[in-house]
Amino acid sequence: MVSWKELELGCTIVEPGSSSKLKTGDWRSQRPVTDYEKCVKCGMCYIFCPDMVYKPNKMGFFQADYYYCKGCGICARECPAEAITMVEEKV
Ligand code: SF4
Ligand code: SF4
Repeated sequence: MVSWKELELGCTIVEPGSSSKLKTGDWRSQRPVTDYEKCVKCGMCYIFCPDMVYKPNKMGFFQADYYYCKGCGICARECPAEAITMVEEKV
C-alpha cells in the first residue's frame, strides 16, 4: 500500500486569488437541472451551494454556472419546491 507521504502534493491553487480559474465542474458526475415552472425564486439554492454556483438572471430565476458546479446535490436536496433534479452528466 502507498503511504500518503509518497503521494504528489494536491496543490492546484498555485497563486493567491486564482481559485476562480479552477474548473471544479470537471469533478461532476451529476448535474443539477432546474424546472423553472416549479421554481419560486426563493434563492435557497444560491444560499446553500458551497461553491456559489447560482446567480439570479434578469427574471429572478437562479441559474447554475456549470464551470464551477461539482454536482454535490445539496441544492437539489434543499430546494423547497423540489424544482432541482440531479441528472447523470454527459461526457
Ligand atoms: S431553491 Fe428551488 S425554488 Fe428556490 S430559487 Fe432555487 S430552484 Fe428556485
Ligand atoms: S450540485 Fe452542488 S455545487 Fe452544483 S449547484 Fe448544486 S449545490 Fe452547487
